[in-house]
Amino acid sequence: MPRLLSPDLRNALSERIRYYREMGIYDFYSRDAAPAFEGSAAVADSIAPSSEHDPKSPEPMSLRKSAFAAVSSPAAFEVLTPKPEFGVADSRKALRIIREDLGDCTRCRLHKQGRKQIVFGVGDPNADLMFIGEAPGADEDQQGEPFVGRAGQLLTNMIKAMGLEREQVYIANIIKCRPPNNRTPERDECETCSPFLMRQIATVKPKVIVALGAVAAKTLLAISDSMSNLRGRWYEFKPTGVRSNDPNWTGAKLAVTYHPAFLLRDPRQKKEAWKDLQMVMLELGLKVPAK
Ligand code: URA
Repeated sequence: MPRLLSPDLRNALSERIRYYREMGIYDFYSRDAAPAFEGSAAVADSIAPSSEHDPKSPEPMSLRKSAFAAVSSPAAFEVLTPKPEFGVADSRKALRIIREDLGDCTRCRLHKQGRKQIVFGVGDPNADLMFIGEAPGADEDQQGEPFVGRAGQLLTNMIKAMGLEREQVYIANIIKCRPPNNRTPERDECETCSPFLMRQIATVKPKVIVALGAVAAKTLLAISDSMSNLRGRWYEFKPTGVRSNDPNWTGAKLAVTYHPAFLLRDPRQKKEAWKDLQMVMLELGLKVPAK
């Protein structure tokens, strides 16, 4: 049934739309004003577990407000302003544009807390598979590349075990600057940085994303749950706040596995992580070694 808006709200919306039009913004996406979950409908959208690949029965999850929810009130509209890389078909060039847009970033406190450099991301700009970690550590900060320290070596070995080379995948982190003493990134740091990651994802257009560890999983999925509950199933993921310029790419499948740094501390969990990677290999049509 069509919802009736009060005259005041209708006027306010018309004003808002006129304002956006004057700025040259014409694309609006409507979403339900009252999503079934706490948080935005876009979040609910991006975390819907895909039942056909779900080896476990779906369990209720507690959702928190998405780090990426764009516009939530007063109107049920999300405005997607085209990003500078939109329309650039060459993904390598598009990534370069995003990197330039990021600049010598001072958007959050981390720029003055000892970071040496921004660690943007590395790998094939058209990769089918993308790994997303938490934050650069000391080695990454030094070299400007994600996952090059001890945890990185393990990740490289995990990629090799899948029958791939590191150069064939794309690797990035939730945040691009090293937090002091490698502390866990703060929520506002993730919120500030992740729009750039969303643009990287929409540019690379991977088939599969692997979230490495709890910070990556919880930030990307806006779910708060234990790693053991988050692993072992597929999620549908759409980068929020950005549109891919390829209408055929509607999002990626996302799997969660343990962070390599955790696996270094507790190697017994490697066999669990290997199960997650095998699930990914099957999805990508890679040969899974017989037991
Ligand atoms: N841990 C991460 O999460 N990312 C890196 O790049 C390195 C270690």
